[in-house]
Amino acid sequence: MFNNLSDRITASLKGLRGHGRLSEADVDKTIREIRRALLDADVAVSVVRDFTGRVRERALGEEVSKALNPAQQVVKIVNDELVEVLGGATGELQWAKKPPTVIMLAGLQGAGKTTLAGKLAAWMKSEGHTPLLVAADLQRPNAVNQLQIVGERAGVPVFAPEPGNGVGNPVLVAMNGVSTAQFQQHDVVIVDTAGRLGVDEEMMQQARDIRDAVNPHETLFVVDAMIGQDAARVAEAFRDGVGFTGVVLSKLDGDARGGAALSITGVTQRPILFASTGEAQQDFERFHPDRMADRILDMGDVLTLIEQAEKAFDQEEAEKAAAKLASGEDFTLDDFLTQMQQLKNMGNIKKMLGMLPNMGQHREALESFDEGEIGRIEAIIRSMTPEERNNPKVINGSRRGRIAKGSGTTVQQINQLLERFKQAQQMMRSMGQGMAGGGGGAGMP
Ligand code: GDP
Repeated sequence: MFNNLSDRITASLKGLRGHGRLSEADVDKTIREIRRALLDADVAVSVVRDFTGRVRERALGEEVSKALNPAQQVVKIVNDELVEVLGGATGELQWAKKPPTVIMLAGLQGAGKTTLAGKLAAWMKSEGHTPLLVAADLQRPNAVNQLQIVGERAGVPVFAPEPGNGVGNPVLVAMNGVSTAQFQQHDVVIVDTAGRLGVDEEMMQQARDIRDAVNPHETLFVVDAMIGQDAARVAEAFRDGVGFTGVVLSKLDGDARGGAALSITGVTQRPILFASTGEAQQDFERFHPDRMADRILDMGDVLTLIEQAEKAFDQEEAEKAAAKLASGEDFTLDDFLTQMQQLKNMGNIKKMLGMLPNMGQHREALESFDEGEIGRIEAIIRSMTPEERNNPKVINGSRRGRIAKGSGTTVQQINQLLERFKQAQQMMRSMGQGMAGGGGGAGMP
């Protein structure tokens, strides 16, 4: 995400290091580089101007001249100002005092509304809400069906038009959806609406009609981050045509350069509430300006990483594993496989590793990271007999040949896996001994 922007800003800030005091020329050089990086990332010119103006003013001011480490202080200023441009404090959804809360989605066709509807519903459900999805996009032939599919995946019911019950009339569908939610006591309704390829008056009118019929508590404008600062322009058209309360940036996983994220709040004065980072349901995050700024400055987003880990890891499995360790039972290949599967649950591993600090310098290694590897490990372990999984010592040469054949791998790959497993097992053993010993002594029974 924003790799190029991130590399260039961090490089320009690194250029300040080693200078005891910063001259105006040093600061101006850095700011010029940052300005160019932002413009190349397709950030709106007005936003770049304000941003660099504020950074310059502060960087030449007292807080830097008095700082013990002026270069560090400039990094902090850039960080602060990035957080501001991205919206400041994390935005919150407004919940209705009297449920259901009505959330309407708006945006161009292909922006990712329907996909987002499923992700948002799944997220809300995991937070203890009882959402209902409403299919009021009757423009695109397959939209209703698509919403039904994402709803099923999220385990959330979908209200769709039935023959004689508003077919062809999105306003009626939206209204019926909301009254169904009231009747069935859903605490939140998410209304998916139609988009067009370009902004047009008819679409705006339809969105306004739906808005006036259902009185949404939140209207979320969904926009494809790959279109850069055009996102801000489309957003202005929607703000003036329909009005919205918050923004969702979709497709932040692609080669979005940062222009949309950094321009939209400045231009529309509306917060970015969520980010969509892939096609799968779990590729969804709340948008935290401070964490996003940390990612851009390659300081890592460890908090999001931890949250995703908490969601993906099965608490029960973790407790079982801990109990097993403490009891001194051995760590088997089955346990190893469970660990790997949990890792896979955390979503795209590359994306996850990218959230760690200073990953910019390891980008090449990251790019070459082979996600297929977990699938391979799974195939290998599944080709073993229960005895082999429990006691890998019995896996001799001929068994290795058989397992390689069964899993479509090579004996060398089996050897590598067993070697890695041995290391993991040793680590688990020493952890287990630590736990069993209650922290006292060397942990020998
Ligand atoms: P809608 O017309 O606004 O409802 O857009 P859709 O939800 O149908 O999305 C359009 C296309 O973009 C689909 O192929 C989605 O799979 C894809 N898409 C949606 N969100 C994301 C995302 O965050 N990342 C990526 N890579 N693709 C996305």
